[in-house]
Amino acid sequence: MSDKRVRVRFAPSPTGGLHLGGVRTALFNYLFAKKHNGDFILRVEDTDQSRYVEGAEQYIIDCLNWCGISPDESPVTQGNYGPYRQSERKSLYRQYAEKLVMDGHAYYAFDTTEELERNRKEVPNFQYGHAYRKSLRNSIALPQHEVDALLAAHTPHVIRLKVPEDQSVSFTDIIRGRVTFETNQVDDKVLLKADGMPTYHLAVVVDDYLMQISHAFRGEEWLPSAPVHLLLWDYLGWKADMPKWAHLPLILKPDGNGKLSKRDGARLGFPVYAMNWDGVDGFKEMGFLPEAFVNFLATLGWNDGTGQEVFSLEELIQKFSLERISKAGARFDFEKAKWYNAEWIKKQTAERLKEKVKTVLADKGIDIKSDAYLLTIIDLIKDRCVLLTDFYQQAGYFFEKPKEYDLNSVKPKWTDDKTDFFNAFKALLIGTELTAVDMEAKFKALAEEKELKTGDVMLPFRIMLVGGKFGPHVFDIAALLGKDETINRIEKALITFAN
Ligand code: GLU
Repeated sequence: MSDKRVRVRFAPSPTGGLHLGGVRTALFNYLFAKKHNGDFILRVEDTDQSRYVEGAEQYIIDCLNWCGISPDESPVTQGNYGPYRQSERKSLYRQYAEKLVMDGHAYYAFDTTEELERNRKEVPNFQYGHAYRKSLRNSIALPQHEVDALLAAHTPHVIRLKVPEDQSVSFTDIIRGRVTFETNQVDDKVLLKADGMPTYHLAVVVDDYLMQISHAFRGEEWLPSAPVHLLLWDYLGWKADMPKWAHLPLILKPDGNGKLSKRDGARLGFPVYAMNWDGVDGFKEMGFLPEAFVNFLATLGWNDGTGQEVFSLEELIQKFSLERISKAGARFDFEKAKWYNAEWIKKQTAERLKEKVKTVLADKGIDIKSDAYLLTIIDLIKDRCVLLTDFYQQAGYFFEKPKEYDLNSVKPKWTDDKTDFFNAFKALLIGTELTAVDMEAKFKALAEEKELKTGDVMLPFRIMLVGGKFGPHVFDIAALLGKDETINRIEKALITFAN
């Protein structure tokens, strides 16, 4: 690597929720920056005011913070290269567009929207480029005095890039190798709009230059824009400072057919946003730990070559390398995402999970009175939880009596002997609190005495306490609930079971 300081940027447009592909782009930028002791910059590309969505910028910042990949420089943290919102840099861009006009690499275009519409209708495959530009209303086609008059009269106009004819432009992509484009396929992109705002193309080049960006990583969908940017880097005389580029592989639909879209999430029932956006739940609300989400995202298009799957953010920073990013699209697999989450829930200490579990339970109206009790329960059941939201199903019965019982599993086989057994067992529990081990011994001895198979009374006992056929060892549950609550649940369930 050159000795230029590593400075990378995540440059989203604040147009809505942050799709997981966007977070992966941010993550790869972050990992690379941290690995090389560089800077990770958030630049808000809000030049298209018509697509601007209130709240989207804050949402992006919140998502990055939730993932633990907060930027070093951003509209809210500042740095030496601000402002970090392109709309606030508006006055900066015109000079570069004008310089390009002066140097003959760009031109003023006065065509109205209606005129362009007409051309699009009348000319098949109309492209504002070398083939047609001479017959349109711009400073290349019109005589100089007319152009001067139009400018003097403040006629609305844009500045367009003059894309050369019959040339090839190429660059070396870190992931894809040499990529070449024919300029005849590229239209004369607008660089500066009539309202004085730059377009994405001009702004991204100017800002990558001014912010001294060393590497630019972005989604593969931006590859078609590369020739425009290459010409700009060249024409502005900055070619030597151009960042190294990597276009990240697409994230594909679960069946591998095409790019994962926001609609696929709704259609197939999985989240595509990092966090709730506009009423649509994200990974966070679905019960993902940020550690798991980040780990999962890192593996969409990258692996460390050893088969290791679970990585902490620290490990990812150490092991991340651009060489190991694949060219091929990465298929999205929600089951795999959940697997990562289960692994991460297992890995976390009860203490680390405590607040998150409290939130899940509070959402269901359960108020935690004792942290110590909650911590014990978390340790007992965390291996059974895939999503954080599973903590309600898996732990709710420690805090409230079952609302319903799996009666199909008990009623058909219920006998008076069993009623008798549980009444006797209840009586045994009165007195001192028993440990799980002691309780189990007494339970088994009583079953033997009453000539019942332990299994035949153990399942009903579980359903009495839990409501269903799940959960950890039943005597662990009973010991944690304590004798009073256990007796209480036996009594309550007997009414239903024995009738
Ligand atoms: N503003 C573009 C986006 O929304 C940035 C693309 C780039 O990184 O050049 O993703």
